[in-house]
This record gives sequence, C-alpha cells and structure tokens, in this order.
Amino acid sequence: MGRMGVDPAVLSAGSMPANSPLTGETVASLKEDSAEEATAAVGRAVEAFKAWRTVPAPRRGELVRLLGEELRAHKEDLGLLISIEAGKITSEGLGEVQEMIDICDFAVGLSRQLYGLTIATERPGHRMMETWHPAGVVGVITAFNFPVAVWSWNAALAFVSGDSVVWKPSEKSPLTAIAVQALYERARAKFGADAPDGLLEMVQGGREVGEALVDDPRVPVLSATGSTRMGRQVGPRVAERFGRSILELGGNNAAIVSSSADLDLTLRGVAFAAMGTAGQRCTTLRRLIVHESVYDALVPRLISAYASVSVGVSTEEGTLVGPLIDKDAFDNMQAALESAKAEGGTVHGGERVNVGGYENAYYAQPAIVEMPSQCGPVLEETFAPILYVMRYSTLEEAIAMQNGVAAGLSSSIFTNSLSEAETFTSAIGSDCGIANVNIGPSGAEIGGAFGGEKETGGGREAGSDAWKAYMRRATNTINYSGALPLAQGVKFDVE
Ligand code: NAD
Repeated sequence: MGRMGVDPAVLSAGSMPANSPLTGETVASLKEDSAEEATAAVGRAVEAFKAWRTVPAPRRGELVRLLGEELRAHKEDLGLLISIEAGKITSEGLGEVQEMIDICDFAVGLSRQLYGLTIATERPGHRMMETWHPAGVVGVITAFNFPVAVWSWNAALAFVSGDSVVWKPSEKSPLTAIAVQALYERARAKFGADAPDGLLEMVQGGREVGEALVDDPRVPVLSATGSTRMGRQVGPRVAERFGRSILELGGNNAAIVSSSADLDLTLRGVAFAAMGTAGQRCTTLRRLIVHESVYDALVPRLISAYASVSVGVSTEEGTLVGPLIDKDAFDNMQAALESAKAEGGTVHGGERVNVGGYENAYYAQPAIVEMPSQCGPVLEETFAPILYVMRYSTLEEAIAMQNGVAAGLSSSIFTNSLSEAETFTSAIGSDCGIANVNIGPSGAEIGGAFGGEKETGGGREAGSDAWKAYMRRATNTINYSGALPLAQGVKFDVE
C-alpha cells in the first residue's frame, strides 16, 4: 500500500477492522465514517461537479488515461492487495486490475464520442438535436467480491461524462479502496488543477453510510452493486426521491449442456465458471442443466475434477480455489447443502478444508450436488462454490428451467447445434442480461454492457451505451426562420 502512495498511519486510524480471508486475521484498523460525514462528502462532490462539468470531455478523458497509467504501473501491487483482502487467487487479482485498465482505455475513447442525435423536425426553419450533459454527483456502492473493478466501471464513465463520484466500498474490502483512491490522487496531481478537490470522495462504513448516499437528493445517480436483498432496499428509496438507480445484483446463473455439446470444452468451461473465485462471483455458474443423453458422460468427470481441485492460500502457486470471505459465507454454504440434502440431493464435496491451521479462515472444498429437480436452495443464489446439477430432455424444458429463477444475471448454453444456440440467444431463449454460447456465464468484457440482473432490466454498466445512465439528455430546438428569405410562402403559426 505504501508503494501505491497510502500513508501508513491510515491503517491504524480507527476501530473499523479490515480482515484478510487468507488467514482470518485483522490486518488493519481503519477510521469509519458516519452518515453525517458521508453527507458532507456529497456536499464537496456537488462543488466539484460545478467545476468539472465545464472541463471539455476529451480533457476529462485525460484524467482517466492517467488513472489507467497508474493502474498499469501498480498492477502487481493492487492485484496482490485484492488477493489479501478478497481472497482471490493471484491470476484473478491481476485480472481484476486489468479490467480496471480496460475500462479506463474504453472511457478515454468514449470521452470523444458522447454523441447526441440531430433529429428531423416537422417545423420549417428549425433545427432539433439532443445534447448529453453530465448528470451530477454519482453515488457508487460496491460489493466485496469485486472490490475495485466495479468502482472503475462506474467512475471511469462518470468522470468522462463530467460527473463527480462519492464511493462507499464494501465494509469487507476497505483496503483496496484506500489504495485505489491513492492511485487516483497521483493521477490527479499529474493532471493538474482542472480536476477539483472533491471529484472523488470515498466514505468507509456499512449500510448506514450507504443509506446516506441513497437518500441524498443531491445524488441524481446511485449505482449499487451487491445482493438482490440490498437492491430491493436501495431501489425503492432512490425511486422515492425520483433519483435514478443503476443496480448490479446477484446472479443464480445456469448453463445448459445439450446432447451435441463438445464435452471436453464443456468440462473446462463449467469447472472454471463454477469453482473460480471460490464461487464468489456474481456470474458464477450455480446451476447445470444437462441433457439426459450426456449426463453420465459428463457428470462423473466433473465430480472427480471437483474432488481434485487444489484449495489453498490464494497467493501460493498452484492454488485454484481460495477461501470464502468469512464465517457467515461458510455457514450459508453449509445451510444450503443441508437443505439440498433434505430435498433429495446427493452432495459431493463441500466440507471445510484446514489450510495452514488458520482457525478463523474459511476454506471449503467446492461442492457439486446432483438434484432430482430444480427446487429448494437451487432457486436462490448462495454466494459459495456450490454447483447444482439437473437433467432435462427437451430444449424447451431446459430453457424453462434456466429462466425459472428470480435472480437471472448470466447464462450459457454448450451446444454444437446452430439452431439450439440461436434459439437460446433469441427472444424466446435466455431471459438474462448475458447469454453465452460455448463459454461459461462467468466473466465479462468491459466492451459489452454488463449484467443488470433480469429483474432490474439487464445490461447496465461498463461498455456499449451504458454511459447514457451517467448523463442527462436535453432536446434542443432552435428557430432560425426569422432570418430566412426562403421562408417566403411558408406560413408560420403565431400563437
Ligand atoms: P451486499 O449486498 O451485502 O453489500 C453490497 C454493498 O451494499 C456493501 O457496500 C454494503 O455495505 C451495501 N449495502 C447493503 N445494504 C445496503 C442498504 N440498505 N443501503 C445502502 N447500502 C447497502 O453484497 P456483498 O456480500 O458485498 O456482495 C456479494 C453480492 O453482490 C452477491 O449477491 C453478488 O452476486 C453481488 N454482485 C453483483 C455484481 C454485479 O455486477 N451484478 C458484482 C459483484 C457482486
């Protein structure tokens, strides 16, 4: 953190614990902000917005370019910190930083492409166009499992759009946020005085601090990433004050394996999507819907892959599955497995693994559960490495199962049949914001609009035209008919 520009005094400035799931130990005691402090941060961000909105968008892009440069220079440091704080294995920690770099690159280009339309008007001697303006202060509430990439999806777009940002990271991942803020400050110092104080405010704490942003009418856009439970609380409160919310929520993601699937490719895709990040990704594969004709050729191989996967300290070479974030996560996993058994499921794996004798760290063997039908815990997202496997006989039935849960974020089909693939991605196929063919549901490139979760509309953050959510649109009509000799013969209405 020192290398990234963090003052070491910050690490013992208060009583809010920062824990590492690798060992279960508390590694720092941070200052927690109050709701009043969050409100004051919004005030500073409002002032910053007034100045930032007047800086030309391509120049705003330069700040994001410099941020990307800092992230490149400190990719290893920040990646390691992600591993320490969120428990991701080394390649995934680095991958998260790469995602931040990618969205910075994307946003730099975007800063020259915030296009509005010119629209044919029915009135003679007039011109009509739309103009996109910055929205204001963007509140960003993030989840522990993507502690910094999700912030960057929001912040990079918000900055080039001309908005200021108030960020509340998860109380389970405060350290990476501190490091990112320090890197941002370095980029800002290089950028110069055009980037005002208060352009990025960060407030640390739990739900109450988040609620201060949710309820503040000076925050026109509130982007919150986390569980559907959180989204159900946040969405109506933002709507009540006519704010706009961007909700990236949980996912109970499925993959269909058809009779024509390439089973080697499927095995690799499924194992990565279901066990990667110890099942703690919003896009983790949680339900596998397998055609009855290939079930026996695929599922026993999957079960042995599950039994042989190496669970261990995330930063050690060879580890494929790191720890769960905390005891609650492990308890929730065990409760889901018990409930699956009660519904007639056969559980393989899932037990606690002793790694290094760390009593307060929670490592678990990923679990694969053969279910007689889609019921009980299969219908909910349990944020842990559990894969439920079920059989199907017709594609129609498989699609109905895939769509038959509430939290639909990402989905995929493994098939070599063109018509099955096209059906799955068509209007009568998957109802999720992400629908893939022959790759698992997990992971996403920043170029496409990400996720959204079907209940909240799908596809909202990162690429495509997601930037529009961080701006407001004005339609402008200009009457130039008074100066027109050619208006002769055209009669204008004067009301
Ligand atoms: P969580 O819902 O417990 O917390 C997320 C954030 O919301 C935290 O910062 C928390 O302090 C805050 N929060 C909680 N209740 C709040 C409220 N009422 N008002 C304001 N803020 C509130 O989620 P988590 O355990 O940190 O993360 C895991 C969840 O996030 C999973 O469900 C996962 O699928 C989801 N997730 C989704 C995406 C996505 O892009 N769709 C990405 C990452 C994680």
